[in-house]
Amino acid sequence: MEQIPQRQPTRSVKVKNTVIGGGSRIKIQSMTTARVTDDDICGELAALKAEGCDIVRVAVNDVADALAIKSRDFLGMPVVADIHFDYKLALLAIENGADKVRVNPSNLGARENFVKVIHCARAHHVPIRIGANCGSVHDAVNVGQSVSDSLKEYVGVCENEGFYDIVLSVKSSSVLQTIELNREVSRIFDYPLHLGVTEAGTLSGGSIKNAIGIGALLADGIGDTIRVSLSAAPYEEVACAKRILRALDLYGGVKIVSCPTCGRKKADVIALASELERATSSINADITIAVMGCEVNGPGEAKQADLGVAGAVGGGAVLFEKGKLIKKLTKEEIIPELLKYIDSYSK
Ligand code: SF4
Repeated sequence: MEQIPQRQPTRSVKVKNTVIGGGSRIKIQSMTTARVTDDDICGELAALKAEGCDIVRVAVNDVADALAIKSRDFLGMPVVADIHFDYKLALLAIENGADKVRVNPSNLGARENFVKVIHCARAHHVPIRIGANCGSVHDAVNVGQSVSDSLKEYVGVCENEGFYDIVLSVKSSSVLQTIELNREVSRIFDYPLHLGVTEAGTLSGGSIKNAIGIGALLADGIGDTIRVSLSAAPYEEVACAKRILRALDLYGGVKIVSCPTCGRKKADVIALASELERATSSINADITIAVMGCEVNGPGEAKQADLGVAGAVGGGAVLFEKGKLIKKLTKEEIIPELLKYIDSYSK
């Protein structure tokens, strides 16, 4: 029997109208490739919203970006200002409506600069994601120690100021290092953790790296919000994040299982499963659908599915529910009929 991972308890941190941690649903984040000042961002934001992005991050390079946050419509998604080096941009972004800021305190200069960001965030009820970077250290043992020590120091600064609206993250492009470091961080802190494998690569290769890195941690019950980092359109990051979460039963929606096909196949499973995945990606029904190649083995192999089709002689399929045959379908009826059944499950 499948087990939903037991989540490690963390504090809850409010980001505008949503919550990270505290046992809440794991939130999906992405980052726009367009600048806040660039109107191309509108298309990216619409696609992210449609795909189910919970929280969107934008790069704040300069004063113009920070000021533009105020007038940009983020379609209801909380917006995170990503700051490097200039703490004044963090202050300006918060004052202009950023719902959260992401900083690496080690690149903000003097300690009092970070403290000024904390004071500003507290005044505006805005949380801070504190990132620790291990990119420049190559010794795995020392990296772990150095990252933990850095985070302890930064968290200590926040706590000394009475500020607890903190989300933590550890940045590594190595899958194994990502897993090890986050396990270590989760043993030390009870602040929510932001997971991701950075610079993971392309849609295909990067998805696998993220699925392993993020997935292994989620299976351990670690992680409160995730960002799948891909060299692809931002909405693809959200689609991949949903697949990772669904694979672990941590996200609702239609789950598709399909066979790899073999010489017994009587239906084009590859085309059917892909079409069904596209058609159901945003449908809010907790249901598992099987797409199987033949009626000889298909219904039996997929009896755990709520609903399924298996290819039949002549190019059509049989429709089955919990392994029990319901009716025969022509090739053209397969997708519409499945969607009709899925619709009845979502009511
Ligand atoms: S369900 Fe049928 S077609 Fe698919 S892998 Fe099994 S035997 Fe082959």
